Amino acid sequence: MTALLSEATRVRDLIAEVGRSLFDRGYTHGSTGNISVRLSDGTMLMTPTNASLGALEPERLSHLDHLCNHIAGDKPTKEAFLHTCMYCQRSNAQAVVHLHSTYSVAASIRADVDTSNVLPPLTAYYVMRVGRLPLVPYFAPGDRQLALAVEAAARDHHAVLMANHGPVVAGHTLREAQYAIEELEETAKLVLLLDGKSIKALTEEQVSALARRLLIGD
Ligand code: ZN
Repeated sequence: MTALLSEATRVRDLIAEVGRSLFDRGYTHGSTGNISVRLSDGTMLMTPTNASLGALEPERLSHLDHLCNHIAGDKPTKEAFLHTCMYCQRSNAQAVVHLHSTYSVAASIRADVDTSNVLPPLTAYYVMRVGRLPLVPYFAPGDRQLALAVEAAARDHHAVLMANHGPVVAGHTLREAQYAIEELEETAKLVLLLDGKSIKALTEEQVSALARRLLIGD
């Protein structure tokens, strides 16, 4: 029990630290974005609804049981379903981060993209931390179809981009999910910076060689 308490305290502090860092560096704005971590007893700590990631209070984070029932703390984000969709499909995932980060959202709005893999493999770290990034179609907030689409995409991918919305990424640890979603955002930025220019993305052979060195995933 004491070990679990100290784990929860440590995780609460880490969620607040990661949230502040993402907010302060402009990866998210207003009250957008949410973070969760699955504890070793199967319950989850999650950021509350209407909370700025820049000003999270560790003791007020939402605590949910393994079925996503609210058991303590403030009311969870309305996007809690995104987190449960990822945990349900990614049994080794212990953390999920979702952002409305500007360049990733821009990438999610472009027409004529490959919806099975939205961003090209521009750098080795993108390939190792994100890999392939499917785009799920737009659904209005609250539409059950969005949860079903994210859940289907999460079966084979730890990172998913939602059209006209933003990315959701699962990791073995919160740091892993954070670094992967940051890599995704920076790659989306590169793609826009390079728009219209002639580029050399990594080749299929280079990508396959890196796939064996994935830094994240199952
Ligand atoms: Zn969202």
